Amino acid sequence: MSFLFTKNKLTRALHVLQPSCCSFCHCRQVNPICHSCLKRLKADSHFHQCLICGKPNLSWVCKSCGTADWAFDQTVVLANETSRLVPTVHAFHQYGQITELAVILYAWKMIKLSRVAPVDLIIPFPENLNISQSRGFWSALELAKTWGKLIHSPYNQELITVMSNPLTQRMSPVIHPFQINTELISTFSITDFRIAIILPYMQSPHQLHEVAKILKKHGARSVINWVLIRNSSKENR
Ligand SMILES: [Zn+2]
Ligand SMILES: [Zn+2]
Repeated sequence: MSFLFTKNKLTRALHVLQPSCCSFCHCRQVNPICHSCLKRLKADSHFHQCLICGKPNLSWVCKSCGTADWAFDQTVVLANETSRLVPTVHAFHQYGQITELAVILYAWKMIKLSRVAPVDLIIPFPENLNISQSRGFWSALELAKTWGKLIHSPYNQELITVMSNPLTQRMSPVIHPFQINTELISTFSITDFRIAIILPYMQSPHQLHEVAKILKKHGARSVINWVLIRNSSKENR
C-alpha cells in the first residue's frame, strides 16, 4: 500500500518535472500528444481511401488505380490534407523543425502501427542534396532512421539515388531523376524483399511509381508507400 502511494507520488512528481507538453493543446504531460488530442487525430485519420494510391476515395480502389498499373502495391497514409497534423509535418519538412519528429512518430505509432505489415527494408524517398542542406536534414531519412529503430527494420538511404542534373529536377511520368546505386546492388540483394518507401508528403503517385519500378526490376517482392500526409488537391486539378 505504502509502496503504491510512494509510486503514485513519484509518478505525479515526474509529470510535473516532465518538460514535455502536448504539441497541439500545450497541456503539460508525458507524451508528445495528449490523450484527448490523440483521440481527435485518430478520428481524423479514419477516412476512406484508395488502398493502392492512398487518395481519399469512397471505394477500395480509385478510378485511376483501376486503369493505371502502378509498380507499388499499397499506400499507407497517416493523415489527409485536412488533418490537424498538417502544420506539424509542414514545420518538420518545410521549416526544418526536427523536434516535430517526435510528435509525428508518436502519432504514427499510436494510429498506424497495428495496421502496417512488417517489411524487410525501409527506403527514404530520395531528394536533392541542396534541399536537404537548406533544411538541415533529409526529412525522409530521419523518418526512416527513427521509425526503423522502433519496428526493428533496417533502412538504406544509398540504394536509390537522385540525379543532381538541374534539367531533370522537373518530375514527369516519363522523365524522372531516380536511379539505382549499381555498385551497391551488385553486393546487396533485394530479391524477394518487402520494401517500404517512407516520405512526408505524397502529391501524386508518379514519382513513387518510378522508384517502385526500379525496386521491382531488381527483385523486390512488394513495395509499400508510407506517407505522412496524402495531398491530392493538385492531382485532381
Ligand atoms: Zn493536447
Ligand atoms: Zn488510387
